[in-house]
Amino acid sequence: MKEGYICKACRSGRLHKREIIQKFEREGLEVSIDGIPALVCEKCNQIYFSPGIGDKISVAANYLFMLSEIKHAGEYRAAV
Ligand SMILES: [Zn+2]
Repeated sequence: MKEGYICKACRSGRLHKREIIQKFEREGLEVSIDGIPALVCEKCNQIYFSPGIGDKISVAANYLFMLSEIKHAGEYRAAV
């Protein structure tokens, strides 16, 4: 999807390239991913990702949750 497309949700807003932050929550843990390239509707704020981006985000989120779980489990030790 290219810039200048019209939003499919509200059918009137234009889509602009943005870098967004996505937050995920799972079993009480929260992680966020910054700098995700996306198209955002100027009117209704509907977010569109390029093909394949959604998969990469969910993989990244899974890894962040793993890190977060380790920290919360108290097994986090500095590897010095
Ligand atoms: Zn819209």
